[in-house]
Amino acid sequence: MVRFTVLASGSKGNATVVSGGRTRILVDCGLSCRELFRRMRLMGEEPETLDAILITHEHSDHVGGVAVTARKLGIPVYFTEGTHRAWMRWLQPRRQMTYAQWLEMIRKQAAERQAEPQAAVGEIDSPEDPGEVAVENSVPSAVPVPTDPAPEPSSGRPPTLKDDPTWLPAIEYFSAGQPFSIGDICVNPFTIPHDAADPVGFVFSSEGVRLGFATDLGYIPPNVREQLRDLDLLLLESNHDLEMLRDGPYPWSVKQRVLSRVGHLSNDAASQFLAADYDGQAAYVILGHLSENNNLPELARVAAERALLGRASLLANRLLLAAQHEPLSAISF
Ligand SMILES: [Zn+2]
Ligand SMILES: [Zn+2]
Repeated sequence: MVRFTVLASGSKGNATVVSGGRTRILVDCGLSCRELFRRMRLMGEEPETLDAILITHEHSDHVGGVAVTARKLGIPVYFTEGTHRAWMRWLQPRRQMTYAQWLEMIRKQAAERQAEPQAAVGEIDSPEDPGEVAVENSVPSAVPVPTDPAPEPSSGRPPTLKDDPTWLPAIEYFSAGQPFSIGDICVNPFTIPHDAADPVGFVFSSEGVRLGFATDLGYIPPNVREQLRDLDLLLLESNHDLEMLRDGPYPWSVKQRVLSRVGHLSNDAASQFLAADYDGQAAYVILGHLSENNNLPELARVAAERALLGRASLLANRLLLAAQHEPLSAISF
């Protein structure tokens, strides 16, 4: 059986479980490990049965819980090399310092700790999704402050999160345009336009069922249009209503980022694709990554319904909305 379960979708965290044959993959891990496991169990999915985690891009709403979750389950994480590097840079900005700068930082931190014993953790900037500005970047929100000049991995055992926040049980690289398999699921990654190092969407296939996955993209270029065909299920971003975004509270620069060709897909852009380019084949169309500030579920739904007019039936194009705060019922084939 093939099953598709969206656990969370939006700029406060993304996570979806794709099951096919005996294989289960978690696509993006933007919830804390605890919340992820809670939602999985709520949906009848056992976290311990996950075989791998697959990452679309390094924004915090897609990777926030990946290190803790992969460690806890002892499973590999699949990234593109560019995404993995960007994720490591985010977690370890100190590695880019010279040794002299690093010594100086340690000296200052030691002095600060002496002055104020409570303040032991430093904040870092993380690459946030431009879809929302008030992102609650809870995990990981901070880089551990090294207490020793050279934290040495203890023999045989993996380093702790504090010693090395980028340590993972296993890392597998993939490249856009080169399909590969994880167990019984074939994964076809494709490049999407978004302001991240090497962002991708996916088409998953297993047991003859094809699932398309495309969120966090500024527009739909021809290569993405090509991929999103002959699907049984399509998860497509419908991030914002253009008027709500234009009239909304965001600073002009953030509005520009969201609207840009490496930002997010508007309701209009999603509908335009559904009306003009989509082949109408999918049994389910799920709208995802809806903005909580610049969209309303009803606006996204009405725009897509209009675009799919005449195509919706019991057998095709059932329209569903993925949400931020609660999982969407599992869809099985
Ligand atoms: Zn996102
Ligand atoms: Zn993003």
